[in-house]
Amino acid sequence: MSFEFSNTCTCTMYSCNDCGESFVNDADDKQNCPHCGSEDITDEGPFYDCDCATINQNHAAELWDTWKNLNPAPYEWYIINGESMGWQNRSGTRGIEEDQEPYDVIQVNSEWTQTWPEAEDYAAGEPLTIGLSHHDSPTGETYTITPATFEQALYALAQSPDHEDTWIGDVNDFLARYFTPGDIDEQRFREIADDLYFEADDYL
Ligand SMILES: [Zn+2]
Ligand SMILES: [Zn+2]
Repeated sequence: MSFEFSNTCTCTMYSCNDCGESFVNDADDKQNCPHCGSEDITDEGPFYDCDCATINQNHAAELWDTWKNLNPAPYEWYIINGESMGWQNRSGTRGIEEDQEPYDVIQVNSEWTQTWPEAEDYAAGEPLTIGLSHHDSPTGETYTITPATFEQALYALAQSPDHEDTWIGDVNDFLARYFTPGDIDEQRFREIADDLYFEADDYL
């Protein structure tokens, strides 16, 4: 089972020529008047005041929570690996913080449809794979989400624009959460953090 989630819907207002009542229905789902059963109805145009977007976002958020419970992030970050992105079929990786929503992070600025597996297909140790199709990607993009390793989480922190101005403080907080002072691993990750800082600095 999968869940299809679009940022557009075809909710349409209709009026009945027999009983005079109005009703809203999906234009793809032809239906007689729900009040009198008449087939003689008039299309009054798109109905924009529907709840489709909210209902779908809430369901995607529920699915994300269910999958996260089975696959917790030990370092508060997940990694999204994108394949076949855009018309050049690029691939790439980025981090997502555990309280961000994947449907929001992967969406594009045009009409799109996401395809999520439903919760009964989730398992511990299995990645979450979301499909995205849109105008610039007719074959569809694939996003695979896994919990970040410590190095991936540190890298994601360095790349995240939200942390650009507070990088040194954020890294100190991050390392302090997982290491005690003088820890041999902490020295190693401080070196990685320093390298990443200089890389991130190049982009400022
Ligand atoms: Zn709608
Ligand atoms: Zn009617």
